[in-house]
Amino acid sequence: MYGAGDVRIADVPDPAIHAPTDAIVRVVRAAICGSDLYPYRSMPATNQGRPMGHEFLGIIEDTGAEVTGLRRGDLVLSPFTYADNTCFWCRRGLQTSCPHGGRYGFDGVDGGQGEAVRVPQASGTLVKLPVAADSALLLSLMTLTDVFCTGHHAAVTAQVGPGVSVAVVGDGAVGLCAVLAAKRLGAGFGATDIVLASGDEGVEEVRKLTGGHGVDAVLECVGSMQTLSTSFGAVRDGGVVSRVGVPSYADGPIGMDMIMRNITLTGGVDPARHYIDGILPDVLEGRVEPGRVFDRTVGLDGVPDGYRAMAGRQSLKVLIAP
Ligand SMILES: [Zn+2]
Repeated sequence: MYGAGDVRIADVPDPAIHAPTDAIVRVVRAAICGSDLYPYRSMPATNQGRPMGHEFLGIIEDTGAEVTGLRRGDLVLSPFTYADNTCFWCRRGLQTSCPHGGRYGFDGVDGGQGEAVRVPQASGTLVKLPVAADSALLLSLMTLTDVFCTGHHAAVTAQVGPGVSVAVVGDGAVGLCAVLAAKRLGAGFGATDIVLASGDEGVEEVRKLTGGHGVDAVLECVGSMQTLSTSFGAVRDGGVVSRVGVPSYADGPIGMDMIMRNITLTGGVDPARHYIDGILPDVLEGRVEPGRVFDRTVGLDGVPDGYRAMAGRQSLKVLIAP
């Protein structure tokens, strides 16, 4: 990405092993994330450009000397950040806080929207997939790199469990995944009611559906001040609001009203690596099909069109088959 609205396909040097903990992955599938649309709308123009993409799966082509448990030819997926998966933070399920970890597309690390990626901390990061590279399950497996785990993180941090009433704010890919994740955890609904209204009107509808009390948990999957306010309006006193949308605000209404209502505010960046092993069997056995969020597939040349389609809301989520 060379600036807002300016995505180009460029030839760059092939990735190579830099550190003994690296692996080189040839990308089989990648995706455009809703969060990629933030720089697509706002990035200042540059000459260098920035490698894009943090959702990908592919085949290992090479491994550094210290990589264990993985070898050339393995089909693997990566969570959207890399991490050693062994340190103090990783052991506590906070791989996004790993001091040896980082983000794709930064600090000399490739983005996932390309033909190949150098993956740092490969042993801790990559998850081996027990399917063929042409499996029909790749669509759903792709969502474990980010969106489905992010929806799951919202549901987990909001303490969704059997019988809990849940409202999901946001109808993007993460919001739809949050619906599936909440249902998977036993929420007392299955997208039973769809509230199209937003703001006060939406809050009123949610309250009508819950005997005037509001829901036990709200999963806020957008990240705007308006959707945060809607979430506080829709949650019952003593309930939980979990935020996983990238916030477009720096402060919010967390004063006296929330204290008097005993609302818990939680959520944050999703430590996807922490969740993948637990969710994987349900995807492999077809009990959950989050791959249905993809509604368009492009080749590498079609990536600029994919950004346009998502930014223009002609597409919910774009899959890349390089
Ligand atoms: Zn770590």
